Amino acid sequence: MARTDSKERMDMPRVKLSRESIKKSLQLFSFIGPNKWKFYLGMLFLVGTGATALAFPRLIGELLKAAEADWEQLMQWGWVLLGVFTAQTVFSYFRIYLFVDVTECMLEGVRKATYSNLVRLSMSYITQRRAGELSSRISADISQIQDTFTTNIAEFLRQFIIIVGGIVLLFLTSIKLAFAMLLIIPPLAVLTVIFGYFVRKKSRGVQDQVAESNTIVDETLQGIHNVKAFANEYFEIFRYGSSTAKVRRQAVQVGRLRAAFASFIIFGLFGGIVGLIFYGAYLKQQGLMEYGDLVQFMLYTVFVGGSIGGIAEQYNQIQKTLGATDRVLELLNEPAEAVDMDADTRNSYPRINGSFAFENIHFAYPSRLETPVLKGVSFSANAGEKIALVGQSGSGKTTIASLLLRFYDPQEGRILVDGKSVNEYQLTQLRSQMAIVPQDVVLFGGSIRENILYGKPEATEEEVIEAAKMANAWEFISQFPEGLNAIVGDRGIKLSGGQRQRIAIARAILKNPAILILDEATSSLDSQAEALVQEALEKLMRGRTSLVIAHRLSTIRNADRILVLQEGEIRESGTHEELITNEKGLYRRLNMMQSDIIPA
Ligand code: ADP
Ligand code: MG
Repeated sequence: MARTDSKERMDMPRVKLSRESIKKSLQLFSFIGPNKWKFYLGMLFLVGTGATALAFPRLIGELLKAAEADWEQLMQWGWVLLGVFTAQTVFSYFRIYLFVDVTECMLEGVRKATYSNLVRLSMSYITQRRAGELSSRISADISQIQDTFTTNIAEFLRQFIIIVGGIVLLFLTSIKLAFAMLLIIPPLAVLTVIFGYFVRKKSRGVQDQVAESNTIVDETLQGIHNVKAFANEYFEIFRYGSSTAKVRRQAVQVGRLRAAFASFIIFGLFGGIVGLIFYGAYLKQQGLMEYGDLVQFMLYTVFVGGSIGGIAEQYNQIQKTLGATDRVLELLNEPAEAVDMDADTRNSYPRINGSFAFENIHFAYPSRLETPVLKGVSFSANAGEKIALVGQSGSGKTTIASLLLRFYDPQEGRILVDGKSVNEYQLTQLRSQMAIVPQDVVLFGGSIRENILYGKPEATEEEVIEAAKMANAWEFISQFPEGLNAIVGDRGIKLSGGQRQRIAIARAILKNPAILILDEATSSLDSQAEALVQEALEKLMRGRTSLVIAHRLSTIRNADRILVLQEGEIRESGTHEELITNEKGLYRRLNMMQSDIIPA
């Protein structure tokens, strides 16, 4: 299996098989829904395949016995064998088909539910996880569950049936031989397992030792300057030499153990089997057993032995699946944000005017609660005003934007929109009337059209083109041979920063938000692109409340109010004219620093 996630799956932790853990993973069954009967029917076929498998040795034995009688009987058993053979073929087909059918139905439900919970999880939950962790729950964990439900559980049960049934049939075939077998095989099997475990443990020790000596090579090469400068080559050679000698000593030790293990298998296990056959042959010679029974007995022994060998791996896989199930269920049961899923309600919210206010906001990120980011921030914006936020990087500007979007909730203080606490709004209502144009616009992999439509999925062609024109984006879009259908990203055209920015603006224009957030939207552009984007932004801001986080102070001179943020506190606030006159002011200083580079 060339699965990309196979490596991840090898490292999956296992969970003990207990009533608790099984009960928990049975939750997954609720996703099967009305198809439960298929699962039970599949189980029936599974028992069928187990039973027919168990019938085989018996029937072969009968066939051989019949061979000593007459042609008629031989034919009869031949037909029976063919019948059982056919039955097993049919059973197996339906067993596999039904299990796959049920499992895929279940997984479709699990995937959809997990994903729809995943995208609605709060920012603080998502940002506290490693990037790959959540997506691997949907890929690696679910494909682990898939294999177990389609194959491992069935195989486990089938092998269990064969072991139990096989041992019973061994006794029915020949009690004497069966006792002899039980006396020989199980102790040998236990010894083999213990021996094998011991050998594996020892060889892991060798691997560790090899890794250690490789580290010496790496270290030496990385620090080769030092090694040479200090003329310490002889020292490193000695160090590596003694490490490799250790590797040899340990490896030879393991070699001895393996040799002993192989001899043990040959002598013990094969010897045991030979002894068993010898005893069987003796019974036959004494007329206590038929030839057919002997063969039958040996076949059962092989079946039971094979199943005992195989069931351990199935058990192992099932344990891993319990772990995977745990993680998927955790994601499924994690409380998500209350996002409206229904397009009609989404569009039926009354429009807000767009005034907002921060009242004494204290905030620290949930992952770093001990580091306060905002320390009592208060400011307000009337509907239609343009509020600018300036300050050094790390002072908390983006954090203020995130709080306004309710990505996080502050620990203290209130955020008001239209005079009402944001907690009193539906999350979707709030966010549907805000738009953000960030510094680094990441577009989705589809066409330009799809990317613009993201602001308003039901917009018409004319609206899309109109928005693109207003965003100063139409000019470059219409130059692509495919126009709006040009594919963005890896497989399509590569857009410059300024072009991506203008697509994001077109998206925001379509969305027609009451509150607009620009987070350093032009700071990564060259001055020509900046002029185009700036012009588009000015059009976008008209008639809306906007929060403009600016890196270049020249772009916010006309703001109704400029807030200067430092270390999570607002230190100054006022218009450009007011702030620039303050001789000792922070804003004036920032301005002086920049005007060296960008002439006013
Ligand atoms: P600005 O936008 O003004 O450059 P930010 O608001 O992005 O600053 O960051 C303010 C502070 O919060 C910084 O010290 C930053 O390290 C920290 N910070 C930002 N995002 C997170 C996050 N997701 N988790 C923890 N700390 C964060
Ligand atoms: Mg920022």
